[in-house]
Amino acid sequence: SEGRLLEIRIMGYGSGQLLLIARDITRVRQLEGMRKEFVANVSHELKTPLTVLQGYLEMMQSMEEPGSPNVRALDQMQQQTSRMRSMVEQLLALSRIEDSGDVDLEVKVNMSQMMDILRDEALALAQKQYDVTLYCEPGLDMYGNEVQLRSACTNLISNAIRYTEPGGNIDISWRKIASGGEFSVSDSGEGIAPQHISRLTERFYRVDSARSRQSGGTGLGLAITKHALNHHQSELMVSSQLGKGSTFSFVIPPNLIEYSQPETEKVTE
Ligand code: ADP
Repeated sequence: SEGRLLEIRIMGYGSGQLLLIARDITRVRQLEGMRKEFVANVSHELKTPLTVLQGYLEMMQSMEEPGSPNVRALDQMQQQTSRMRSMVEQLLALSRIEDSGDVDLEVKVNMSQMMDILRDEALALAQKQYDVTLYCEPGLDMYGNEVQLRSACTNLISNAIRYTEPGGNIDISWRKIASGGEFSVSDSGEGIAPQHISRLTERFYRVDSARSRQSGGTGLGLAITKHALNHHQSELMVSSQLGKGSTFSFVIPPNLIEYSQPETEKVTE
């Protein structure tokens, strides 16, 4: 009937028979929509009070004598409010990305520009404590939503740094491969045990919650990345060895990339 949403599954067929199961999911979708809207509203409403708190904390910090007992407490308060802020921002980002519906896949994203921005971000996060290398295939661009793609890539880069001890290597690359355009981030960090891999993109899932909380993670980064990639017909791939490091990558399919091979220099005889 009108306005109702049915989920229809083909359960199997054989000997000329077909079994269809239809389920009314109107209510399920309504509730899902309400949950998303609620999360988005709460996160939005929390932003203002947090900004005010941070402002006052900064002012109080600047008025303290160095070495006074309040300095440590104020530092802690500052750290915790800024953690809360990044969580609220990530929650908002996640609900925006979940809701964004179909992404316009006709817009060209200039990848050499984007990789330059990612390089700057990586170097700022690495603070000279990591060996960061970056490769960008000349002439390889893609189509999609630049904001979403950038947050997908930034999350992978900030994780690589977050879960690698200073002194380690971070390799970032965007290159042409047989099946499309591949973006990948490898680190020489702590690695992930196999049983965790399939759950990494769940919201708030962390391998070691105490540790990742301490390192400033929110547990939402890979959930955001997964949604962004789904909107671009791609998915996150992870290969990792405990104690050795991890590689997070994704491949953008051929229909969403544009590759203008650089002209090889003509040899004149
Ligand atoms: P968080 O904000 O906690 O980093 P994410 O969703 O980005 O949340 O990642 C989920 C979990 O996956 C992290 O808590 C961490 O345990 C693990 N993880 C992600 N990236 C890496 C990596 N490069 N090396 C090791 N573990 C990682």
